[in-house]
Amino acid sequence: MDLRLSDRVQRIQPSPTLAVTARAAELRDQGRDIIGLGAGEPDFTTPEPIRRAAAEAAEAGHTKYTPVDGIPALKRAIIDKFRADNDLSYAPEEVMVSCGGKQVVFNLALALLQEGDEAVIPGPYWVSYPDIVKLAGAEPVTIPTDDTAGFKITAHQLENALSDRSRLLILNSPANPTGAVYTEDELQALATVIRNQPQLVILTDDIYEKILLGAFPFANILSVAPDLKQRTVVLNGVSKAFAMTGWRIGYAGGPRGLIGAMKKLQSQSTSNPAAVSQHAALAALEADDALIQPMVDAFRERHNYVAEALNTLPYVSCRRAEGAFYVFPAFHEALKALGLEDDLALATHLLDTAGVALVPGSAFGAPGYMRLSFATDLDSLRQAMDRLHRALAG
Ligand code: PLP
Repeated sequence: MDLRLSDRVQRIQPSPTLAVTARAAELRDQGRDIIGLGAGEPDFTTPEPIRRAAAEAAEAGHTKYTPVDGIPALKRAIIDKFRADNDLSYAPEEVMVSCGGKQVVFNLALALLQEGDEAVIPGPYWVSYPDIVKLAGAEPVTIPTDDTAGFKITAHQLENALSDRSRLLILNSPANPTGAVYTEDELQALATVIRNQPQLVILTDDIYEKILLGAFPFANILSVAPDLKQRTVVLNGVSKAFAMTGWRIGYAGGPRGLIGAMKKLQSQSTSNPAAVSQHAALAALEADDALIQPMVDAFRERHNYVAEALNTLPYVSCRRAEGAFYVFPAFHEALKALGLEDDLALATHLLDTAGVALVPGSAFGAPGYMRLSFATDLDSLRQAMDRLHRALAG
């Protein structure tokens, strides 16, 4: 039977990273030793106190439906977190818990956007933003940046990208895939442009807030422009900071009307996030940041190593990351030297010849770059760099 699929689902592309992942799996099946540097998640196990809280919650019978927007204790912990870390004050109706940060983006896009609307997305971007915008029937408008600009947009670029159809601006700092972090001054400049566009809602995706590698402290648009709070949604979650990607807990703070609409959508899709996971997230938010520190220290040490090692590879140049656990080196020269057509061909070539899996930059809207995740142990990283060196020196 020839099944007709919806226009909606046909609007989105299968991830360009799938080809690389499939090839890596194939090579592993053949017994090849593949070093995977493509993962978008910490390699650490969720810390013990959090795992214990989840086990205790299951034993205590927290196994039923919860309120759609999260258990009251977790919402209170989220409100406390926003106040302590971000100097933001929210009422319970202004926060909600979702199934990962991804569902926050999904809920927001579907609650806000419709046909004819545009969502402005600085690139290189997290792969899901444009596709979620398309699922909502709107059009992603990307603002390209490169390594010479530190992968950050300027106020001037933002101004040029905005139109009277722009409804949503997505900011992500520290950023996936580049590790770029906006400074307060840079955000201040963007805020000046945003103030002239009263129809524009801002999503600040702060999921990597706790993973800072450089000298810049964390700031988001509301740190410098609290006057924008009534049209800003703050996304955060436990996935990256607490090594809890599999638990699926993200959360949002934002204007009551918008959060209410997002909650309504969630009530007719997934309902509440898993009850046991909510108890685990509560333990995470109530824990001291000391729980996170060893992981951040490890990311910093690995970053120092890979950023330096990548710059010693032939035809490769790499900017240092300021946050998250990715670097985004430029391979444009390597493409030319190896006579390869594009970064997808390069990713396949590096897999086949070096047994190293990287994600091609075109997946993030930035052809010619490759994303390397250093959420893996130093020994593997050292081995990967040796292998890449051999493959590129050819
Ligand atoms: N935002 C960014 C920038 C991400 O990189 C990710 C995960 O890769 C998410 C949000 C979503 O995280 P999760 O849905 O796992 O909580």
